[in-house]
Amino acid sequence: MSKDELKPEESKNDHRAIGEALDLFSFHEVAPGTAFWHGKGMIIFRELEKLIRGELDQVGYEEISTPIMVKKEVFEKSGHAKYYRENMFELEDGDQTYFLKPMNCPESTYVYGSRIRSYKDLPLRLSEIGRLHRNELSGVLGGLFRARQFTMDDAHIYLRPDQIQGEVSSLLKLVTKVYAIFGFSPKFYLSTMPDKAMGDKKAWEKAEEALEMALKENGVKHELKEKDGAFYGPKIDIEIKDSLGRSWQLATIQLDLLMLPEQFGLTYIDEEGKKQKPMVIHRAVYGSFERFIGVLLEHFEGALPLWLSPVQAVVLPVSEKFTGYGKKVFDELKNAGIRVEISDANETLGKRIREAEVRKIPYVIVVGEREESGDFVNVRRRGSKDNTEVKVSELISRIKKEIEERAL
Ligand SMILES: [Zn+2]
Repeated sequence: MSKDELKPEESKNDHRAIGEALDLFSFHEVAPGTAFWHGKGMIIFRELEKLIRGELDQVGYEEISTPIMVKKEVFEKSGHAKYYRENMFELEDGDQTYFLKPMNCPESTYVYGSRIRSYKDLPLRLSEIGRLHRNELSGVLGGLFRARQFTMDDAHIYLRPDQIQGEVSSLLKLVTKVYAIFGFSPKFYLSTMPDKAMGDKKAWEKAEEALEMALKENGVKHELKEKDGAFYGPKIDIEIKDSLGRSWQLATIQLDLLMLPEQFGLTYIDEEGKKQKPMVIHRAVYGSFERFIGVLLEHFEGALPLWLSPVQAVVLPVSEKFTGYGKKVFDELKNAGIRVEISDANETLGKRIREAEVRKIPYVIVVGEREESGDFVNVRRRGSKDNTEVKVSELISRIKKEIEERAL
């Protein structure tokens, strides 16, 4: 049976199969549609968090964290209780009804509204790595691609109308920069005012013009999706193509001209001391961490870039006699902050090398007689057929440089 004939769930390149082979996560009947993350999978999660947090710290975000479970009145105000109820998990506690949040937006308004905001405070960029629950039907659940619980790299940016272009422009830079790290060159789509839009036409026109200017300013080509905006504002959809030629829409920049501020009575004080309504940008870069990781695993066929690899190097002593030297090499790499393992010498070397290949470990380091007496190591980089002999210190600087650059 060729690979093409396999059903997706049987394919070796399915992220669920990769996740199992690499010990990243598992799924269990006790929690349908929700991953149990293992230690190695959490390393990928944490590296992605570190990357996005590092970027956001540089461009003036405040990271917030809001409750997973809130009273239903929050989602009555936002309209979710009416239009999205079948997708929400509901809990009763006495005479009180609670919901598990399916999105972060309504709750972020409570942080905004907890202070009097002046025009000088805007844009206020509230980011949140928020855990969300949506009651997807079990028939449509699909590993990490469609889960009932997932984690979003979300943000809500509260701003004045005159700040739209500048803010969207810096968001386009952020998305382009982050995606380039994974080797993705995104495509951009601008969705404009639909027929059933809310709000006045002038505000829409101005907002669409600002989005277009931001795209132009960044030299970003885009396609138009006419009348495809949400009823409360225009948006930019961002799509990538993976190594299998599939398109994924992960990031979005959605402008909210009036809805959220109206529902939750948000205001700021303008230069003349008058109350005004802010606008909001909802945006995500990865979208859902879970789905993003699923896409990465299939895109790279499990062979993640070094900086994302749960195990970055493995030391293989050729026989038990060289375990001592192997341990010394292992300690040096470990102390340098590299995620390294050392293997027992009780299997044949050939078998252990093959196993390291199956586990897609980027650096395979072999040590034996020659290496110990010369105080060097024999290294093979994943994907290369050549072995090189290097001093451990040299290998460490090479690996650290590759990690630091987040090289592909
Ligand atoms: Zn939102």
